[in-house]
Amino acid sequence: MGRRWGFLIGLLGAVCLLRSGHGGQQPPETAAQRCFCQVSGYLDDCTCDVETIDKFNNYRLFPRLQKLLESDYFRYYKVNLKRPCPFWNDISQCGRRDCAVRPCQSDEVPDGIKSASYKYSEEANNLIEECEQAERLGAVDESLSEETQKAVLQWTKHDDSSDNFCEADDIQSPDAEYVDLLLNPERYTGYKGPDAWKIWNVIYEENCFKPQTIKRPLNPLASSQGKSEENTFYSWLEGLCVEKRAFYRLISGLHASINVHLSARYLLQDTWLEKIWGHNITEFQQRFDGILTEGEGPRRLKNLYFLYLIELRALSKVVPFFERPDFQLFTGNKVQDEENKMLLLEILHEIKSFPLHFDENSFFAGDKKEANKLKEEFRLHFRNISRIMDCVGCFKCRLWGKLQTQGLGTALKILFSEKLIANMPESGPSYEFHLTRQEIVSLFNAFGRISTSVKELENFRNLLQNIH
Ligand code: FAD
Repeated sequence: MGRRWGFLIGLLGAVCLLRSGHGGQQPPETAAQRCFCQVSGYLDDCTCDVETIDKFNNYRLFPRLQKLLESDYFRYYKVNLKRPCPFWNDISQCGRRDCAVRPCQSDEVPDGIKSASYKYSEEANNLIEECEQAERLGAVDESLSEETQKAVLQWTKHDDSSDNFCEADDIQSPDAEYVDLLLNPERYTGYKGPDAWKIWNVIYEENCFKPQTIKRPLNPLASSQGKSEENTFYSWLEGLCVEKRAFYRLISGLHASINVHLSARYLLQDTWLEKIWGHNITEFQQRFDGILTEGEGPRRLKNLYFLYLIELRALSKVVPFFERPDFQLFTGNKVQDEENKMLLLEILHEIKSFPLHFDENSFFAGDKKEANKLKEEFRLHFRNISRIMDCVGCFKCRLWGKLQTQGLGTALKILFSEKLIANMPESGPSYEFHLTRQEIVSLFNAFGRISTSVKELENFRNLLQNIH
């Protein structure tokens, strides 16, 4: 079996050489080709190619998205990092300085955001206040307008979360705090080894629709079990329906993105005087080089592109929600809020114009009963993953892990709510579909992370080209 795998890797290498225009006597692959040669052309399960995504992301989207994410509305994220792990007790907090998260002092967060954590428009504010009042009364208050009563019922239903893909973080808890995402960037923290592997293992092993008998090619801890498991895993994955395969690829894409970030913002120098963060090419190669990872690295980078396409598609679908005149990016600063809404809509229209969107019609295209069953399975698996984030032993990793799972969960919620969004009234309250401020902030920041990863791949490609 090992020899067969070796043969396959060899074959991949040969295909690589052919694709990059080197056959027969040609020089060996460059370091850049070893990471990227298979990450080109069409992506599996969709009709989009990597080069089109790179151009679109790096030059049209990325700069504007960064600007938007620096605004007050998007930089403050409320999160409860103190929730206990629901699965095991022995979480060792890694205790590293670079894992610490500095929460905001209360005067740092704009009042508009603090007083309106769920609120995004004046009209919605009023309605929600009425709803909250109704909830305090413990029942739908007969004196409320018929419209409000309907909203209370709808939103209670919504918050009961039949539609939510993530475990709602209890942001009303006294333990929840605002965090300035710009001051707590995702980067290398030093969180690694058995504690980190345990989290990734649980995520893959428990949640990827995987029969107990099949093992994923796990991690260094399981290396003694050899390649046969790897082959079984991939042939099993190939045999899966497109939706379940997609689920694995989304998680793997998220994992790859996190690992691209930590390689791009690595702690290069740490003295008492200063810390220098930057690209660590060796770290990147160890994770993504086709030969060093026996073909796995490029596959993971492709999954990152797949995740990008899924989030991009969700953003293109949710445009009508943000276009409604009563929607505001409310922080209390009217001029800035209006400018930011304009920028947000510009970005969304750019996204809508992307020519090769992922065609999710192939998803859940079967009969309705089957589609609903799959949606429910997706939702439950995903909620479980969001709970696992409370077991991550490094607060900085936990923060970004939570934000990105919530963002991806919101993207899935949007994709599964396509009809509700399309039928939304152009103005006035929308009972069927709404997004909380938390969901909006996590959706855009999560996409911002993947967009940054795609941009970083270009940086690494350039760096690797210089080290033949
Ligand atoms: P790991 O990345 O831990 O992977 C374990 C095994 O999974 C690998 O040996 C391989 O077999 C497989 N694998 C690796 N990548 C993929 C993939 N993309 N798809 C499928 N399988 C794969 N560290 C930081 O420095 N900064 C952070 O912000 C950060 N955030 C994290 C957030 C979460 C939720 C978790 C669980 C970990 C985070 N980490 C972070 C840790 C980081 O992801 C790695 O776990 C750590 O660097 C150790 O890497 P490793 O090479 O041992 O393999």
